[in-house]
Amino acid sequence: MTKGPIQPILYPMEGAAGKTGDWRTFYPVVNPDLCIKCNICWKYCPDHAISPADREKDEVISYDYNYCKGCGICAEECPKDAITMVPQGE
Ligand code: SF4
Ligand code: SF4
Repeated sequence: MTKGPIQPILYPMEGAAGKTGDWRTFYPVVNPDLCIKCNICWKYCPDHAISPADREKDEVISYDYNYCKGCGICAEECPKDAITMVPQGE
């Protein structure tokens, strides 16, 4: 079996725009019963606001709401519709 290229592991951190969480009008919530831990949402998040699911520990993804700006890309890309965008304040 050949190995693929080494991939970077990205974690939430403050970017050029600072903490972007207060831009948000919707926030994402993951349903752990639907999540298959594929980490597609983590790969697509433009703000690196998602920590990847750990299959070995049977843990689903988690969000850093300091940096999530509520764009909804993670919910769009999730193949299992496991992410719901909820209006801020609910
Ligand atoms: S894309 Fe969906 S199923 Fe995959 S890890 Fe994210 S929430 Fe879970
Ligand atoms: S809503 Fe946008 S910024 Fe927030 S976690 Fe999903 S993809 Fe990242």
